[in-house]
Amino acid sequence: MNVPLLDLKVQFEAIRDEIMVNLMTAIDSQRFIMGDVVGELECAIAGLCRVAEAVACASGTDALLLSLKTAIQPGDEVITTPFTFFATAGAIVNAGGRPVFVDIEPATFNIDMDQVEAAITDRTRAIVPVHLFGQMASMERLAALAERHGLAVIEDAAQAIGARRQIDGQWRMPGELGTTATFSFFPSKNLGGWGDGGMIVTNDSARADRLRRLRAHGGAKQYQHEEVGTNSRLDTIQAAVLKAKLPHLAAWNAARRANAAHYEAELDGCADLVTPITDPANEHTYHQYTIRADRRDALVAALKADGIGCAVYYPKPLHLQPCFAHLGYRIGRFPEAERAAREVVSLPVYPELTPTARDAVVKAIRRFAQ
Ligand SMILES: *Cc1c(COP(=O)(O)O)cnc(C)c1O
Repeated sequence: MNVPLLDLKVQFEAIRDEIMVNLMTAIDSQRFIMGDVVGELECAIAGLCRVAEAVACASGTDALLLSLKTAIQPGDEVITTPFTFFATAGAIVNAGGRPVFVDIEPATFNIDMDQVEAAITDRTRAIVPVHLFGQMASMERLAALAERHGLAVIEDAAQAIGARRQIDGQWRMPGELGTTATFSFFPSKNLGGWGDGGMIVTNDSARADRLRRLRAHGGAKQYQHEEVGTNSRLDTIQAAVLKAKLPHLAAWNAARRANAAHYEAELDGCADLVTPITDPANEHTYHQYTIRADRRDALVAALKADGIGCAVYYPKPLHLQPCFAHLGYRIGRFPEAERAAREVVSLPVYPELTPTARDAVVKAIRRFAQ
């Protein structure tokens, strides 16, 4: 049986009519830039995250870049993780900053809070934690640290829309404790559009106003420019698709958790495999269901041969990327990020995965692990 890593066609078939109605309204309006549905989506996402403001933009990468532009000056140091999608560190550089990497915690793959404080210098202005694979980093520790040192926290929540974390008995979402949190609507994300798209959420209304200017060439009014911004808006068409999908997000995330729980039960005891570990404070959204395997490359080959989709996120940590050679990091500098890059493989966990398909994945892995 062939099982893809992700199947967007089945999702579309289930909600085709809801999407098409929204899309036709957007098309009938012929307002392709900043049509009404963009503002409606912003309100809905702000509501979901229980924050005051949401600012739509053209991609998750731009959401990071624009956020960083409100938080740092050229030459400032920004602490982040080397085990993430490239955009996290790329946006730091494009905002004029210098990435300073620290290692990850092996259990959650998220930035190691114990190492963040030691990396702070008098040039540090911001920290960019990544809520990797769909579970939040320890925001309570980061927020306290940032407050003590006067730093901004830009949460890269591209993989964690709908995720939450229990802090002092209260559920907190991305954006509630950070300076801003950023989302991506890349088609494969938990809430995916029909092209690129992104969103920034924040409780800081002055910052949101500035972000709205920056996404439209730096002007609050047309033909008047307080600063130099860029063109980074979310298309009306994308907002129409996303607004139709948003009411399904909670159920989709719950279905991902159910798939993960099934894998957890079925793969328990497989030799040389480690299933993902959820911090007890977190509700995971399983953007990826990522296991560790001693013989990872052989497992990937075996799964491919059995028609099971899988992928390695991420095979090379960012401190070892050629474009960051000038930062001076060597192999061995971040052993946990480097080990994760050798051991991880992500399995199909998408909400529409059928029990039969799930069992085919389990069987293929068990066959390999014997
Ligand atoms: C997808 C992703 C991004 C970038 O989002 P785009 O919308 O593709 O620009 C940034 N960070 C992480 C962790 C991501 O997974």
